[in-house]
Amino acid sequence: MPISETMACQTRQLEASDAAIAAAAACLRDGGLVAFPTETVYGLGADATCTGAIARLYAAKGRPSFNPLIAHVAGVTEARLIGRFDATAERLAAAFWPGPLTLVLPKTADCRVADLATAGLDTVAIRVPAHPITQALLRAVGRPVVAPSANISGHVSPTTAAHVHADLNGRIDLIVDGGPVEVGVESTILGCFGTPVLLRPGGVPSEAIEAVLGTPLARRAPEPAAGDDQPLAPGMLASHYAPRAAVRLEATSVRPDEALLAFGPDALPGAEHATAVMNLSARGDLTEAATHLFGYLRALDAKAARTIAVMPIPHDGLGEAINDRLRRAAAPKD
Ligand code: AMP
Ligand code: MG
Repeated sequence: MPISETMACQTRQLEASDAAIAAAAACLRDGGLVAFPTETVYGLGADATCTGAIARLYAAKGRPSFNPLIAHVAGVTEARLIGRFDATAERLAAAFWPGPLTLVLPKTADCRVADLATAGLDTVAIRVPAHPITQALLRAVGRPVVAPSANISGHVSPTTAAHVHADLNGRIDLIVDGGPVEVGVESTILGCFGTPVLLRPGGVPSEAIEAVLGTPLARRAPEPAAGDDQPLAPGMLASHYAPRAAVRLEATSVRPDEALLAFGPDALPGAEHATAVMNLSARGDLTEAATHLFGYLRALDAKAARTIAVMPIPHDGLGEAINDRLRRAAAPKD
């Protein structure tokens, strides 16, 4: 039975407004858990300086506490209070903040982000989101806010308030509904303590970062084997973003009883027999595809498909992040 059905208490949901933002900020400052839109996906916020709130957040998501969280702040001034910026980090922040880029930096000596949020590391992941609701909320809270995606750990990330409700109703205090998100995949994460290294592809394409750095980006170490409990880099779990259905990548035909997640104008052999078909972008636009990715995975899953066949997606631009999420969605779950 889903946990939400065992809970007597419904999570409150408010349409975004000044009053909703004030209520959300008060709840966060009180140690509560609030889901809100960002430009990437819906986040589940908790006061990053409050160990009790962070512990409740890990419990509400069922997220292993060795998987560190991103601290969200309103601007670079607030970011400098918790992370130590070298010249490269300053350049990247100037180029991409506010926006879907997370920088992992050495903690400052008086960093207020709780050790539980950073899994005891001496680095902290920081993002300055661009979404006007997130910006207003962070300014009203006046403290860093950790905000992983507002879903049960390992599930598909939420791009609408309804997705958040489906996963977390009864487990969190408040959902602020600001409509569907714009980017649709999580932030790009860049380790910035020495030579910059791409830890997770995301909403800022690597090519844009390379253009600012003037050099090709180093990639993080290869994936841990499926079934490893302890990932090589914290949080880099092989299975993640996973629907209930099996996911079959690089499909060049549709097999019996499969649903199809299509991309581009071409029809696949066997597509007429698919149990359901959704096209991420019929015109082959990767930005549009990123916006649709998680919602369409959820929708095909809701149609009880046993397997979702996915057409090949180009690897450039946002395609790198889309392929990363699809690879994890397809990875063995245990
Ligand atoms: P999520 O909140 O699910 O979007 O994931 C945030 C990701 O940020 C985690 O999975 C980690 O991989 C990464 N992360 C957060 N803090 C650190 C850190 N200090 N060092 C390396 N990676 C980090
Ligand atoms: Mg997530």
